[in-house]
Amino acid sequence: MAVNIGVLAIQGDVREHKNHLAQVGANPVEVRTLEDLSQVQGLIIPGGESTTIAMLMAEEGLIDQIQRRVWDEQFPVYGTCAGLILLSKDVIGSSPARLGLMDIVANRNAYGRQLASFETSLRIPALGDGPDFPAVFIRAPQIVRYGPEVIPLATFEGQVVMAEQGSLLTSAFHPEMSGDVRIHGYFVDKVRKILQV
Ligand code: GLN
Repeated sequence: MAVNIGVLAIQGDVREHKNHLAQVGANPVEVRTLEDLSQVQGLIIPGGESTTIAMLMAEEGLIDQIQRRVWDEQFPVYGTCAGLILLSKDVIGSSPARLGLMDIVANRNAYGRQLASFETSLRIPALGDGPDFPAVFIRAPQIVRYGPEVIPLATFEGQVVMAEQGSLLTSAFHPEMSGDVRIHGYFVDKVRKILQV
């Protein structure tokens, strides 16, 4: 059964996320409204500017409804980059309104100006025995603290840059900017496990 996976279509690489989802056998759906949200069994929040994304999400009532679905029915959400900031319980520095669902503390733009954008290869054991993952960081946040229910999935220079907690998955980098679809596959598998399909 193809699961409907939403891509929050406010900012960011919506088309690339949809392509990656289609390649791993999911049915990608653009999400802008509560009606769209009700059609999907999981949601990806792309990178962008977290303050802007949060403001537009709040206007549509999406923040409350996503929180409700995560608490009530283990709704799977994958937040990348700005999406990581939106999922964080706490944010260092100026912090936008957010979902606040993951027990992590994010430091926005933690890599500073010189290292604003870079690409590296990450060892991600949860993806199996394949090659390292080509990870693109763009003005990325860091996870500077995390609680006992959070499982780190990848680190870069000693900092956790990918993690999960229950139905929630997050990465500080952009997995849609390379041709590698394994993280999207991992998220879709997670959705299937939760739905038991
Ligand atoms: N630095 C951005 C923010 O604070 C996130 C950057 C990104 O999503 N690529 O929202």
